[in-house]
Amino acid sequence: MPPTLKSADFDRAIYASDEVRKVLWALQGGKCCFCEKQVEIQYATVEHFRPKTAAVDAAGSKRLGYWWLAYEFRNLYLACPNCNNAKRDEFPLAAGAEALAEPAKPWDVDVPEDALLLDPGVDDPEQHLEWVFLPGIGPVPSGKDERGRASVEVLRLNARDELAQLRANIYRRLVQPLISCYRGALASGDQRMQSEFVDCARMMAERETPFAGMVRSMLRQAGIL
Ligand SMILES: [Zn+2]
Repeated sequence: MPPTLKSADFDRAIYASDEVRKVLWALQGGKCCFCEKQVEIQYATVEHFRPKTAAVDAAGSKRLGYWWLAYEFRNLYLACPNCNNAKRDEFPLAAGAEALAEPAKPWDVDVPEDALLLDPGVDDPEQHLEWVFLPGIGPVPSGKDERGRASVEVLRLNARDELAQLRANIYRRLVQPLISCYRGALASGDQRMQSEFVDCARMMAERETPFAGMVRSMLRQAGIL
């Protein structure tokens, strides 16, 4: 095994093939695995969750990547280019944690690697992230624990102005009007309308909706879900 690796050591025609992209796109509801923005298959990046060439920890020090997972489907996701650029090779572990060693596979080991980033195919983000409404900005994610905070930080989820605007647009145009209508139905005591708005909320919170995690959280906070 060479002491350092580069992207050219891996065959993109395999891990980023059209076939892989199509399957990931369908599994992810057409959205980026990290920020939940809609992506087009051909313009999205096939992302190695555990980076293949090098892994960088929170302090910036670099270790050899998880090269033996480069062609493992469970290590692949479709990400938007902005999340891919933000994440780069960063893959922090909890303080004092031991990095997984070749040939161990994270889904097979008895003692899981103490990785901080939330794995989009494994972890439930609602356990680690909450959404806070900031006037003038809109809903922003906030880590409830170390893993949530690390994910927001590494992916720059609160440091990307256009991402915040896209989320705010969905909130203002879809979520907020529904909350207002639901409150109106509550105030008037119209149970049929209340139940219709609850059905709308459930549909709006489905996985294919852009920023479904944010949508779900805001609808829950408003008492609709
Ligand atoms: Zn993204």
